[in-house]
Amino acid sequence: MEHCILKVALDTPLDRFFDYRWPTSAITNAEGEQVVPALPQIGQLVLLPFGSQQLMGLIVAISDHTDVPEAKLKDALELRSQLPGLSEEWIALCRFAADYYQRPLGEVALPALPRNLRVGKAGTLERNLKKLAKLVPALDANPNPEPPLNPAQQAAVDAIAGAPGFAPSLLYGVTGSGKTEVYLQAAAKILAQAAQAQVLILVPEINLTPQLENNIRKRFSGIQIATLHSGMAEGERLQHWLAAHLGQARIILGTRLAILASLPHLKMIVIDEEHDPSYKQQEGLRYSARDLAVWRAHQLAIPVVLGSATPSLESWQHAKVGRYRKLELRERAVKDAVLPVVRVINQEHEKPKDGLTTPLINAIHRRLEKGEQSLLFLNRRGYSPVIACDACGWISDCTRCTAHLVMHKLENKLRCHHCGYEQRIPRHCPTCGNIDLQPLGRGTQRLEEGLKLIFPEARVFRIDADSTRLKGSAAAAFDTVHRGEVDILIGTQMVAKGHDFKNLTLVGALNPDSALFSQDYRASERLFAQLMQVAGRAGRAAQKQGGNISEVLIQTRYPDHPLYHALMAHDYDRFANDLLDERQQACMPPFMYQALLRAEAKELQSALDFLHQAANCCAHVGITIHEPIPMSMTRVANVDRAQLLVESVSRPALQAFLKEWIATLRGLKSRLKWGVEIDPVDI
Ligand code: ADP
Ligand code: ZN
Ligand code: ZN
Repeated sequence: MEHCILKVALDTPLDRFFDYRWPTSAITNAEGEQVVPALPQIGQLVLLPFGSQQLMGLIVAISDHTDVPEAKLKDALELRSQLPGLSEEWIALCRFAADYYQRPLGEVALPALPRNLRVGKAGTLERNLKKLAKLVPALDANPNPEPPLNPAQQAAVDAIAGAPGFAPSLLYGVTGSGKTEVYLQAAAKILAQAAQAQVLILVPEINLTPQLENNIRKRFSGIQIATLHSGMAEGERLQHWLAAHLGQARIILGTRLAILASLPHLKMIVIDEEHDPSYKQQEGLRYSARDLAVWRAHQLAIPVVLGSATPSLESWQHAKVGRYRKLELRERAVKDAVLPVVRVINQEHEKPKDGLTTPLINAIHRRLEKGEQSLLFLNRRGYSPVIACDACGWISDCTRCTAHLVMHKLENKLRCHHCGYEQRIPRHCPTCGNIDLQPLGRGTQRLEEGLKLIFPEARVFRIDADSTRLKGSAAAAFDTVHRGEVDILIGTQMVAKGHDFKNLTLVGALNPDSALFSQDYRASERLFAQLMQVAGRAGRAAQKQGGNISEVLIQTRYPDHPLYHALMAHDYDRFANDLLDERQQACMPPFMYQALLRAEAKELQSALDFLHQAANCCAHVGITIHEPIPMSMTRVANVDRAQLLVESVSRPALQAFLKEWIATLRGLKSRLKWGVEIDPVDI
């Protein structure tokens, strides 16, 4: 019998391919018949014996040679030939991600596929392949017509869809400037250019912005649309993935994981809210979907659009030096809708009552009188971030983490937001028995309680991770607001993203100061983006006759901070340029390339010892290796964590160093858990 050798990538930490045998001449099957096995191709999936288990592998090469001794060579079990293979471009994308993030190819490529493809029986796949045709039936309802674009939008659409080849654009548009309309009309042009063309639209969170999906479905009725995000059931995910892979879905709307979808006819990529931290995967393969999107667009020589009102400093810098084209939308798209007036309220002069200063309370009253909505932004869920005993100084700390237990009064629980530990709220101090335990600080639940006292007649509504824990409840909650059944909305950053609240004319920001003095150097960039986003929820419709002008009130102890001044002036340009200057002078990203080695152990010292050993195990010309330090939140769920920062002004130098370094670290065979993150965002 004749064979070929399949070189296969597997989802294992071993950084190599695995060889398996596959027959190329007729074989006798279980029924005793002579059958000719399917001819394998690169990009196909194949089921393999691996130790005592069976694993799905991806064929990356086919050869007639192997170094594995005959006796050890195993036969592949089953070729998934029903499924058209993954393209060379897709494998190249995974290979790039694997190289760049220093992982084996198999650890990137296989987890990027729907689980049911990897574990399912061949029959499941066949059933799904038949079902597809049924996916997301084309609507025959009236499509939403395209509104005429304003000149700035038109120029952006022309620039994006008019230029063939790799053309990254930074669509820098104030909140409500109609960036979405630009994406949709550019997408329409691209789709019209080729019968099979596919467009990928990445968003930070699908569940929080159901409006976008609805708008796309209404606009592109008659076209199949697939969605890809982590909240989908596996069966559903397989169907949508297949629709994209088979080229049936022409628009793919997804969160960061969609960047690794198989899209054989991809012709344009959109990254909405490109600055959003959720594009960075924070566990496993810690990739940046934004960066991979730009690479993918380059690989395929297609346009890519990065949209934001507050672009990341990385993208801002690219635009500054001309690597990205900057397309600007300076005004709101809706006629007579203007950006809100932003003011700061000095908390040193105006003492808050139940968390609210008098000017903010008055502003809410004015909204209630006119039947308009107010939004209070407080990025801290729970009742209070900690409870304490005045008598002996006890505070509610998590015994497993470097963190406080947060008080959740409604559920009568103290809860750790990091490890999930929870207990009942103690009736008296566990140390001294004092029954008078005090909540310190204010979370959204406590704010809600206070608001109901101050505004007994108002309909107060809270949206945060606690109030929307059940699947589908976030969308339902936002609908309640859109239907006008809410007067005062309280929310965490969940409410800041993308919502088009038509009747909202006041945003109050409570307690944003802590981020100003964070040790994380990106905190102020993030705070600005967050406040700008949430401010952007106000005044999105034309001002009503006799209605209030739209306002944003920020309660702060530091009214003179440059960040708030830039916000009041709606001047992101200056803020971003100043931050970039600071970063350049301090040799920080985007002027420096970084990687972080993290280690975890039961004892902090073991983690630090490992990092010290790592710091000294390789030559490192042109690379700075910093001192190992405990992570700022050192302990999580009884595990201590430490980190070591390495950096270089040269990305290739850093990449070359990392490759050698990681191989050496693997050779140390340390038993503690460690990992390297490239371009870390939380340092
Ligand atoms: P952004 O994404 O920039 O925050 P949106 O795309 O949500 O802004 O648009 C804000 C509002 O402006 C939406 O209600 C949208 O329907 C409307 N809009 C966008 N473009 C136009 C246009 N050309 N004419 C009229 N209204 C528009
Ligand atoms: Zn006490
Ligand atoms: Zn904990």
